[in-house]
Parts: sequence; structure tokens; C-alpha cells
Amino acid sequence: MKVAIVGGGAAGMFCANILSESSINVTLFEKNNDTLKKFLVTGNGRCNVTNLCDIDEFIDNVSHNSKFLFATLNNFDSFDLVEYLRKNGVTTKIEKGNRVFPSTNKAMTVKQFLDSNLGDNITLKTGCEVKKILRSNGKYKVMFGATSQTFDAVVIATGGLSYPTTGSTGDGYKFAKSLGLEVTDTRPSLCAIRLINVPKNFEGTPFKARITFENNNKEIAVKGEGLFTGFGISGPAVHKITSLIKEHEIGLSTISLDFLYKKTYEQCVESFKEYIRENPKKFVVHLVNKFVNIKFAKDILFNLDINEKLQCANVSNNQIQQIINKLKDYKFEVLGFEDINKATITRGGVDCKQINPSTMEAKKSKGLYFIGEVLDVDAQSGGFNLQIAFSTAYSCARDIIHSSFR
Ligand SMILES: Cc1cc2nc3c(=O)[nH]c(=O)nc-3n(C[C@H](O)[C@H](O)[C@H](O)COP(=O)(O)OP(=O)(O)OC[C@H]3O[C@@H](n4cnc5c(N)ncnc54)[C@H](O)[C@@H]3O)c2cc1C
Repeated sequence: MKVAIVGGGAAGMFCANILSESSINVTLFEKNNDTLKKFLVTGNGRCNVTNLCDIDEFIDNVSHNSKFLFATLNNFDSFDLVEYLRKNGVTTKIEKGNRVFPSTNKAMTVKQFLDSNLGDNITLKTGCEVKKILRSNGKYKVMFGATSQTFDAVVIATGGLSYPTTGSTGDGYKFAKSLGLEVTDTRPSLCAIRLINVPKNFEGTPFKARITFENNNKEIAVKGEGLFTGFGISGPAVHKITSLIKEHEIGLSTISLDFLYKKTYEQCVESFKEYIRENPKKFVVHLVNKFVNIKFAKDILFNLDINEKLQCANVSNNQIQQIINKLKDYKFEVLGFEDINKATITRGGVDCKQINPSTMEAKKSKGLYFIGEVLDVDAQSGGFNLQIAFSTAYSCARDIIHSSFR
């Protein structure tokens, strides 16, 4: 049996590693000159390989098409991955939120293992971009350069569309369509949100808030940390929101920041009055700055037409009310998602309805498999997306090994 794997990212390389346990003749095509280019930048180079939570919690963290993953996670979950790495000499450590990293803090450690663990049955063709895949008489003709090779099975592991400089340029979608599969619309996820009229001087300013996305009376709220960029907001809480928004909801929507979400309105009034009692001669800008960054404090006062040098003793109850209302509902109109090039993950891809969830084989095309980010499935940050790549790769490799005995 001859198998082609197209793509040497986390999914393709893990699939090749599992197939190394067999004697199946495998050729892995990778367009970059080396494997795992995107993998090396994951987790800021530390690579959050997985998340050690139980399957139910894992599924809760899958933002799109979660049910599709039940079978594959049952085949090979995050505990299996950690054990597999440990048995092969790659130790890991667990950090906040069950996030797992290599003990060395280096994605390179895992890459070196995945590269060196490939068996003699795997031929690695790096610097080799697959241009087309044709099916004829139940076999697959893989075309690259000026030549082609024919295989009994082909595994498409070409990733999504984000960070195209790492090689993920959506080729797998083209292959899928040309082989008769449906591909759902793609869009960025786990990314920044572009906003209208963000003051220029906010760029680089971090904040902690309850961030509420609103569209047509629908609300998605996430508490946590964010950061103003040159064009909008980013950071973990913002990324989470982008994975919960549906594509059509992004238009005509707003983002509201509640900087004082830990306090009720009444508690805020109490805190303001206490500060004023204790600091009657200080300026109102100092009062507001006690609760938010000075840049936000100045912007709020400017917009409310309150002189920032007004002494606290002279701040009226009405002004207190206006300032607190602003601090609890600091609103921006949404322009859209950040460009997909810069997103962490792609939403959309090969329609999961056409794929066998236990094996990753296309239901109507024997020998055609899709694994990793090329599939229409994506999850929150925290190691879930790499685990999806590893689990789907495992299920696919096991099925190929079983079918080689049939
Ligand atoms: C900045 C960043 C940080 C991230 N951090 C994390 C993290 O810490 N934890 C986590 O779980 N997830 C993280 N992710 C997501 C994670 O990187 C992806 O889920 C994962 O890489 C998907 O693996 P994949 O193998 O499916 O695709 P990819 O890693 O994209 O690999 C696809 C491979 O296919 C190759 N290829 C494409 N087309 C062709 C072709 N025509 N011919 C030959 N080769 C081709 C590409 O060159 C590439 O090497 C991060 C993503 C980004 C962008």
C-alpha cells in the first residue's frame, strides 16, 4: 500500500509518526524546506501542545462542530498524547488552565522528536509543493513540480489560511473541491476585532474588562484581559469572543467595555464618593484614573465635556453618574474581524458532514482523508487546536494501518 500525506505541519507529521509503526510505504509532501514551520511559532515558541482536561470539558472548548470530535478524542485524547510524548522521551508540564507545554519550554523539542521518530518507511519530500490531486480508478495521482506519483490513499493535512508565511495558504480547500467535497466559508477566528474611531494614543494600552459584543439584541460577554491595537482590540478575552461570534453577526455590531465589572453601579458610586471625601483637592482626572488607565480617563472626561482639572470636591452627582456609566459601558462600533493572515486559526473548511468522524476518511471517497485545521472545526486557545490536529491524525493513521490488513 502506498500513502501520500500532503502537509508537514502538526497533523501531517503526527500522522507520519503513527504510520512509522507500520511498514506502509508513505511519502510526505511539504512545500516549505522544513517541517512544522507554524508549529514552531505556537505558544510564542513554547508550544501549548494540548490541554489536560476530560473529554466533556474539551468538547466545551471546541467553538465549532464539537460533536464531530467525540469519536476521534475517544480514540486518542490529550492524556494519550502526553503519555505518547513521555514514552518517547519528551516530558511535559502543566500550567494554568490545564495547558500543557514541553518541559523545555521549546516547540523545537517536540519538532525534533517528530522529525527524528519517522520510520524508514516514510519518505520526506520537503520543498515540494503539491499542485493537484486527481482520482482515477480508486487511486490518487499527486502532482508536484513537473511530475506525479500515484497512491492508494492520500491524507490532506494542509492546514487553514492563517499565517500564510508558514505555508498554510488554503491549498487543501482547492484539493477538496476538485475531488468533489464541499468546503464551508472560511473566516478568521481567535483574532483581533477592528473598531471604528479608536483614539490613536490607545495603541498598546492593556485593559481588564467585561467585554460585551452586541448585535441585534444578542450579547456575548467575556471577562478578561485585552489590549488596544492600532485599529481595535486584541488579547485573550477578545480572541475568545471572535470564536463565539457567527460570521453574519459581525456587521452592525458594537463592543462595550465594562472596566468596573467587579462592582455594581451602587458600589461604584460609593467608591467614587469615598475617594472624593478623602481627596477633595485632587482633580477629577485622578479620580477616574484610580479605576482606569490615564488615557481612558482623559478620553472619557473629554467626551463628557468635563474639565479634567475640575477639583473632586466640585464634581456633581450627575457627573459622577455620567462617568460611571461611561466606565461601565465604553462603546465602540465594530468594523470587522482582523485579517485572516494574522488570525490564530481558520473557521470553516472541509465540511465535516462528509467525513467519517472515527477515521477522517471522506464518506464517499475511499482512501481520501482530511486531518487538522483543513477541517471545518476549531476551538478556543489553550492547546485544543493542536490536540485536534494530533487526534484527527491519529484516527486517520490507525484507519490506514487497519485497512492495509483488510
Ligand atoms: C501564532 C499562532 C500560535 C498558535 N499557538 C497555538 C498553541 O499554542 N496551541 C494550539 O493548540 N494551537 C495553536 N495554534 C494553532 C495551531 O498552530 C494549528 O491548530 C495547527 O498548526 C494546525 O496544524 P495542521 O497540521 O492542521 O496545519 P499547519 O500547521 O498549518 O500545517 C500545514 C502544512 O501543510 C503545508 N502545505 C500546505 N499546502 C501544501 C501543498 N500544496 N503542498 C505541500 N505542503 C503544503 C504547509 O506548508 C504546512 O507546513 C497557533 C496558531 C498560530 C498562527
